[in-house]
Amino acid sequence: MVYVISMQVSIYIHIPFCLKKCLYCDFNSFADAKVEREEYVDLLVREMKQRAGELPEPAEVPTLYFGGGTPSLLPVGEVARLIDAAARLFRLGAGAEITLEANPGTVTREKLAGYRAAGVNRLSIGVQSVQDSLLERIGRVHTSAEAVAAVEAARAAGFDNLGIDLIHTLPGETVAMWEDDLRRCVDLAPEHISAYALILEEGTPLHGEAEKGGLVLPEEDVAVAMLELTSDFLVDAGYEHYEISNFAQPGRRSRHNQVYWKRGSYLGFGAGAHSLLRRETGDVRWGNVESLPEYRRRISTGRLPDDERQILSPREAMAEYMFLGLRLLEGVDMREFSREFGATVASVWPGVADGLCRDGLLIEDGPLLRLSRRGLLLANRVFAAFL
Ligand code: SF4
Repeated sequence: MVYVISMQVSIYIHIPFCLKKCLYCDFNSFADAKVEREEYVDLLVREMKQRAGELPEPAEVPTLYFGGGTPSLLPVGEVARLIDAAARLFRLGAGAEITLEANPGTVTREKLAGYRAAGVNRLSIGVQSVQDSLLERIGRVHTSAEAVAAVEAARAAGFDNLGIDLIHTLPGETVAMWEDDLRRCVDLAPEHISAYALILEEGTPLHGEAEKGGLVLPEEDVAVAMLELTSDFLVDAGYEHYEISNFAQPGRRSRHNQVYWKRGSYLGFGAGAHSLLRRETGDVRWGNVESLPEYRRRISTGRLPDDERQILSPREAMAEYMFLGLRLLEGVDMREFSREFGATVASVWPGVADGLCRDGLLIEDGPLLRLSRRGLLLANRVFAAFL
């Protein structure tokens, strides 16, 4: 494989353990994992060595992200071991953003202070809601009081860069409940807020309930009201709405997630983790096997655990550029698109951007093409037009 030399490569480390599966979750995570956590970390370090050995030179790592699953189930020593491995095998600079997803049901102030001392400098806390009835309805393991306590513990442990994740459009949720969530979240003054609408993923218990007709979700007009309220409320509170579902205080955008939206290179380690490497000979994406026993089998026998390797055609790379870039509210710069692909947006998709502008979904602002307020609500329709 020929890699682009002297590249920056972000790192994602997947921790697939959870205390209990939430009723809406289709992430690759297990409450009854058949591999012990310590052994899993050994496997991760081995995978990192294998990948690092493939690179022509140690890559510079601007961001490292522990996602899951529930990374905060890992003892401090295991997180430290993984950060050390990344620093040894790649060039993890002192200024790197190192984020860990923390579930309120799994942290104490001491544990969080340990993560901070190990080098984690940003926490993403899965609060999801501050309505206890809703937390219970979606099967979260924590209460709202525990979620608030986790945020306070993180501050006390020395974190000055906190993100809070919220979910809206939950079964039985009203606009007033969502407004209360937003208010109480803003009161905690996190530097970053992610607010996603619930998606009923096939195979999850909530999806099963919906199939049987036993789930009462907010009507479409309520869902739209929640989306509009989210942006209005958080912007009023001083947050920049910078991505469809993400808000940040000035200078506090998630650097790691921007790598995804801007199609930077990243290596994903662990069961089910995904990677993208930008190469002169065609960008390549792959996903690791999801099964933990299979992941162990592959790594233990010296094989790489990737399953679905795809070399992107120029057309696929261009489509990704558009539908990922348009997620950012600043939009895509069509001059940069032309520089990168040697073709204009208008020549690759004749009439498409103009049509979406006429429909009021996109706004062309000089060289920038971005979602309108209406386009934010109908973003999937916009993205589909570039596929
Ligand atoms: S904590 Fe996160 S990863 Fe684990 S089951 Fe719940 S939603 Fe899924």
